[in-house]
Amino acid sequence: MAKDKALSFNSKVIHSGQSPDPVTGSVMQPIYATSTYAQSAPGEHQGYEYSRSENPTRMAFERNLAALENGTMGLAFASGLAAIDAVLQNLPAESHVVAMDDLYGGTFRLFNRIKTKHASMSFDHIDMSDLKNIEQAINENTRLIWIETPSNPLLKTVDLTAIAELARSRGILTVCDNTFATPYNQRPIDMGIDVVMHSTTKYINGHSDIIGGALVIGDNRELADELKFLQFAIGAIASPFDSFLALRGIKTLAVRMQRHNENAQAVADYLEQHDQVEQVFYPGFSGMVSCYIKGGFEKTSAFMQRLELFTLAESLGGVESLVNHPAIMTHASLPESQRHKLGIFDNLVRFSVGIEDADDLVADLKQALESD
Ligand code: PLP
Repeated sequence: MAKDKALSFNSKVIHSGQSPDPVTGSVMQPIYATSTYAQSAPGEHQGYEYSRSENPTRMAFERNLAALENGTMGLAFASGLAAIDAVLQNLPAESHVVAMDDLYGGTFRLFNRIKTKHASMSFDHIDMSDLKNIEQAINENTRLIWIETPSNPLLKTVDLTAIAELARSRGILTVCDNTFATPYNQRPIDMGIDVVMHSTTKYINGHSDIIGGALVIGDNRELADELKFLQFAIGAIASPFDSFLALRGIKTLAVRMQRHNENAQAVADYLEQHDQVEQVFYPGFSGMVSCYIKGGFEKTSAFMQRLELFTLAESLGGVESLVNHPAIMTHASLPESQRHKLGIFDNLVRFSVGIEDADDLVADLKQALESD
């Protein structure tokens, strides 16, 4: 839509990719709960044949997310991992992938326990803060550079523009998992990255009530068509109901992210000055903050159990604050040696800072750190 291009982010979240329903005038995108569509003659239809390939609710969500990421096509999947898998399915067998060392545990598991086995792919996990490490890891079979920034759980950031330039000069595809930053804080396609990936389970939906994933493709028609074909041919699509919820959630993405950013900064500042905290990780944006608690596992676990507003749970990116123990919870699938190499020790805690009142969150941290 031409008008979408001119809109600012705050308006795009609400309007892009949608217009009132032509049949009823319904202002909100209806949930098209149908598997199939009537044809007036064989092959004659209104652009919708079967909901695995086209569904109006899912497509409205896809158009909206594509507009937010300044991409040309969005594709919504049943989970973040299904979206990642579609990218990998598009690579030839025996492809080599250069990936971040600090990465969501489930991405690491899909790469190293599944794709190595059935597609004979190989993966090098490296520290991407130094471009030289990437150059050294690239070989003649390298087809993809997989980036997650800020990374999970240590919130490392990398220079997306420099990596995109390097990859382009070698003809290598780049994908950025933008789950933690969201397009409110960072738009990788504008920096030359080919594809953006989201676990829409997190900030995009924002209310911890769906599992979903998405890809947004930049200005590359051939790649967009290939990935759309895989979405259709493999079939791990987002349902109409989940697409509706994600589209509803996305309308408040800008206001939610503004508050997530502010609250996370307040939490990071508080933890930084506390004598029970060894080190704080916060890149200056997003709602994710990690830290080492002084002392070992026992002290860390007791602190986490004393928290009242922060719920101890997996996942992130919802309006409510959560706390997670990466070594035991989200990153348990990484071998211990790898965890220790990365700095995922037993005293590492990861917070998903919600949009509650910042003073209440800080008060909760204070009582949990000081009631020992
Ligand atoms: N990428 C990141 C950064 C994640 O945190 C997650 C899930 O926690 C995923 C991908 C996988 O997404 P999903 O759980 O929706 O399959």
